[in-house]
Amino acid sequence: MQISFKVKDNQIFKIRFLTDGCASTAVTMSVTNMVCEVILEFGTEEQKRRYITLITSGTYPAGAFGLTEPGGGSDPAGMQTTAVQDGDHFILNGRKIFITSAEYAGVVIVWAVTDEESPKGEGISAFLVEQGTPGYTVGEDESKMGQKGSSTNELIFEDCHIPKENLLGGLHDGFRIPLMELAGGSIRIGSMSVGFWGGRPWSMASPMPRSGASLLNPLLNFRPSSG
Ligand SMILES: Cc1cc2nc3c(=O)[nH]c(=O)nc-3n(C[C@H](O)[C@H](O)[C@H](O)COP(=O)(O)OP(=O)(O)OC[C@H]3O[C@@H](n4cnc5c(N)ncnc54)[C@H](O)[C@@H]3O)c2cc1C
Repeated sequence: MQISFKVKDNQIFKIRFLTDGCASTAVTMSVTNMVCEVILEFGTEEQKRRYITLITSGTYPAGAFGLTEPGGGSDPAGMQTTAVQDGDHFILNGRKIFITSAEYAGVVIVWAVTDEESPKGEGISAFLVEQGTPGYTVGEDESKMGQKGSSTNELIFEDCHIPKENLLGGLHDGFRIPLMELAGGSIRIGSMSVGFWGGRPWSMASPMPRSGASLLNPLLNFRPSSG
């Protein structure tokens, strides 16, 4: 399986700077951007027209990315959520956890096993699930140590009927989407970590002695000329 990803340089720059001001805003923007990127890359023309318009106009304040499950986020291929086709719908059952912005998101991309006979990591499909769909419940915001302006929720799907038009990408071919997107997502989260500190590591180091026995000297020698 070939995986490629794109992250625009200016997006990294913006996330870094936004994080310096407000990490919650930065993570909300970052995840919503991921959702739009995925829809633009894999969506049908109708899905692009509907969801990109709703998100970018602010009608939907955010988008959400529903991959992680209670069984362990490091191993998303082991997901337990299922979607069974029934006529012109898929019936979704399962749970997701730690989903950024879910309580505000007008749409969440949800991954589910659609072919239980397939080897692990295959037979998975992606769906666009709209807020308010019967059988879809968003749990309480997790109480986190930080980023309290960003909600992190559980999603519960109980016989949730999703129209087949809301399948995103190919049937049983959805797992390459998070693999592709999360490579870029890790860079975004990395740039948030840099942004948390802004220019502070260097401004903290600068007043320290630049000569003599200071252990910081070797570090200061690596100070970049800009940024
Ligand atoms: C604030 C926040 C926002 C999030 N937002 C989203 C979101 O919007 N959408 C989404 O889908 N997910 C989201 N997540 C989930 C995130 O992607 C997961 O937390 C992450 O993938 C790790 O999964 P986990 O927490 O289940 O930890 P686990 O997978 O249980 O791992 C726990 C620890 O064990 C280690 N570990 C795991 N497996 C192994 C192994 N085989 N060998 C050695 N060590 C191992 C891990 O490195 C880690 O240190 C969010 C999480 C947080 C905290």
